[in-house]
Amino acid sequence: MKLSRYYLPTYRESPAEAEVISHQLMLRAGMVKKLAAGIYNWLPFGLRALRKVEEIIREEMNRAGAQEVFLPMVQPSELWKESGRWEAYGKELLRFQDRHEHESCLGPTHEEVIVDLVRGQLRSWRQLPVNLYQIQDKFRDEIRPRFGLMRGREFGMKDAYSFDADEPGAEKSYQGMYAAYSRIFARCGLEFRAVEAVTGPIGGKFSHEFMVLADTGEDTLAVCPKCGYAANLEKAEVKTAAKPETDPEQVLEKVHTPGRRTVEEVCAFLKLAPANLVKTLIFESDKGPVAAMVRGDRELNPNKLQGLINADRLEMATPERIQELTKGPLGFSGPVGLKIPIYLDQEVALLKNFITGANEPDYHLLNTNLTRDFQAAKIADLRVVVPGDFCNRCGSEYHFHKGIEVGHIFKLGLKYSKPMNATFLDQNGKEQFFIMGCYGIGTSRTVAASIEQNHDPSGIIWPLSIAPFQIYLLPINYKDERLRKVTDDLAAELEKLGLEVLLDDREESPGVKFKDADLIGIPLRILVGDKTLAKDSVEFKLRNQDKKELVLISKAAMAAKELILAQLEAISQKTDRIATQASKL
Ligand code: ATP
Ligand code: MG
Repeated sequence: MKLSRYYLPTYRESPAEAEVISHQLMLRAGMVKKLAAGIYNWLPFGLRALRKVEEIIREEMNRAGAQEVFLPMVQPSELWKESGRWEAYGKELLRFQDRHEHESCLGPTHEEVIVDLVRGQLRSWRQLPVNLYQIQDKFRDEIRPRFGLMRGREFGMKDAYSFDADEPGAEKSYQGMYAAYSRIFARCGLEFRAVEAVTGPIGGKFSHEFMVLADTGEDTLAVCPKCGYAANLEKAEVKTAAKPETDPEQVLEKVHTPGRRTVEEVCAFLKLAPANLVKTLIFESDKGPVAAMVRGDRELNPNKLQGLINADRLEMATPERIQELTKGPLGFSGPVGLKIPIYLDQEVALLKNFITGANEPDYHLLNTNLTRDFQAAKIADLRVVVPGDFCNRCGSEYHFHKGIEVGHIFKLGLKYSKPMNATFLDQNGKEQFFIMGCYGIGTSRTVAASIEQNHDPSGIIWPLSIAPFQIYLLPINYKDERLRKVTDDLAAELEKLGLEVLLDDREESPGVKFKDADLIGIPLRILVGDKTLAKDSVEFKLRNQDKKELVLISKAAMAAKELILAQLEAISQKTDRIATQASKL
């Protein structure tokens, strides 16, 4: 492909709207162009990378036995009413009416549609398992679309859905997807980690997020360097470094703390450290109202509380409800005299003589003590993990990494098949609900994440397997007849070998061409200039290395092919290693 004919508008300056590096570089390298908030056009150069990611995904999904389908983006409200999500899904679900005043939505995900597709058609246990996937745009009316393709409103996703007859089968399907995902991100040439994520009522090891490691990532993952346990912040189990206090218990004392509600205000007023204060938080759940206590310098993890009490629903109580339940206002809740179950973070149980709210406006209690002053329904790990915490499985100190969630696999169980009445006949001819799993990969986000992970101040550094082109052929002066001849011949030879070449035939200065080559980040740059020709050579330079190397013109095409094959082979070997580890999940 000749660059002079290629629709690749590049920009020297970063557009003001772009906050993160991948967004800046995708705009500057002419990959995408914004149409509206969170909605982007893909240009030819960007689309080539996206299509490569999609093709890797497609190959690995097929290899894992999944079958490709293509489902509509417009979905009728009736299906969403059946699953209960028409009301439950927030404003991210873009609902609208057609000319017949029929209500529909744009698909943010496709569980309802896929269940409707198979029910009635997939009838017998003999046909199971089945795994269907598609690669398609989703629409989620995100409140704050940002970071370009990272959090769009319209974005690309591969979504797959598995249907199994029994639990062991569902687990096998899940593991198959875990392995396939590991292969996909390894083949994309990305550094990633699979981390355990919150499962909700299903429990166990049945939700993993795949995170591309990048310092700029929005997500944080806790990784145990010793046993390999890795989880996101919503899930990571904590073994605390705190030791039990042994001070003698002091007399419980009520103190006046006028207008001091927050931990900071109370601690500043009483001249004590936040670790001496214990927050009492009041929640509503389908299991009734509950209280949870964590140290003032810690953050409660509501997922852990929800798991502990086995609730389907958990939310903070309103100020009115807090008043009703504790007899005191928001900001002054405490455990003493409280009539609802109290769940204690394990660290609180180690404290003596701590401060709590007095359930009375403008008062706190000094020297509160567990057992003497109140009882706990349960003591457990209830807080968010922080640096310095230890792995709950092996006791080593966690390492923390930043990452970008590019994939999520999840066991759904009967969550959709039951309300939507999707059944099959088991071996005994008995009607059973399908056991489902769902598996998503953000395709557009994966492209953005790969740039977030692989760039330098000059531009993008594509992993070879998803690079839009493999070779950037750069004649210093394409108008020079001799140079042009060598360049054209080499381009033809490279293309004949099946390599993807972008030939910079523009009448630009060498400086401009070098800058653009670095900006768009194609893995191998081949320079044709007077100086190299004087040695019957061209110059090879890999985008991810500083080294330059002269290669004889007569050998250049084969050498390029070998170099590229060697790099792809390295990626493929790494993929196999990662896949072997993944199969041990
Ligand atoms: P997030 O936590 O980032 O909002 P999610 O958990 O809602 O994502 P899933 O429903 O698990 O996302 O969707 C599967 C995948 O789709 C995600 O892992 C992510 O890669 C991608 N994805 C989700 N939302 C967006 C978005 N707004 N823009 C781009 N990709 C997205
Ligand atoms: Mg997710």
